[in-house]
Amino acid sequence: MRLGDAPESGNFEDRTGQSGGGGGGLIGLLLPIVASRFGIIGVLVLGLGYCALTSFGGGGGSPTTTGESQLTPEQGQVLRGVLGSTEQVWGQIFQQSGAQYKPTRLVAYSNQNQSGCGVAQAAMGPFYCPSDQSIYIDPQFFSELARRFQAPGDGSQAYVIAHEVGHHIQNLQGTLDRAQSAQASSSTAAGNAVQVGVELQADCYAGVWAKRSGLLEAGDIEEGMRAAEAIGDDTLQQQSQGRVVPESFTHGSSAQRREALTRGLQSGDPAKCNYAR
Ligand SMILES: [Zn+2]
Repeated sequence: MRLGDAPESGNFEDRTGQSGGGGGGLIGLLLPIVASRFGIIGVLVLGLGYCALTSFGGGGGSPTTTGESQLTPEQGQVLRGVLGSTEQVWGQIFQQSGAQYKPTRLVAYSNQNQSGCGVAQAAMGPFYCPSDQSIYIDPQFFSELARRFQAPGDGSQAYVIAHEVGHHIQNLQGTLDRAQSAQASSSTAAGNAVQVGVELQADCYAGVWAKRSGLLEAGDIEEGMRAAEAIGDDTLQQQSQGRVVPESFTHGSSAQRREALTRGLQSGDPAKCNYAR
């Protein structure tokens, strides 16, 4: 990835060396939100979708209270650079429609951290919190992507960040609010279908960013595609329970995720990402 061309964002915060604000007693606070059918906020919190299947095994081991960053310089560069590039790309898109883009904040943490949506724990996938308009990510997730999901590379990491920024766009557009209302008055299966639409749109928005950013090289796109496919609901379900239950999908199948990302990537046009209203 040509990260040298990316403007580094000032909205990135590295809290990985801190012990976090939650306090042990609050561990698990987020889980009830996720487990319940609170609808989109609760579920979307686990942006990449990874919610119920999340434990990725990070966060064990000794607590990090050293005050030193746990980010590798490469990870820091990807996080700042991709975030900065999304600000540029979405800034232009909003401007063209006469609006002003209000950037999201990206917080890297380790162990646990207080977010506007509860306590973020390491071992959760990355997520977007609508109430404080921030993205939270434990960089260990990148190792997990590489190891467990065989989707290594900065192209794969860029996809993850751009997908979460996609949820921020949806928040600014009112899509998350609308989806939440729709879910509140529908059956579980119908509510899941609404959420799949929201997730596929975020994938498509990630493709729009990729197309317009000018940062990606051919191999990066393949890495992003591999990541999108690896976390498709059917693939995850097959791995975890040995069978696939489409009505319980919340993020879309591997094929759907690849298709959504491709649609954004080919068009560069957010209007084409009409998976959600
Ligand atoms: Zn998501």
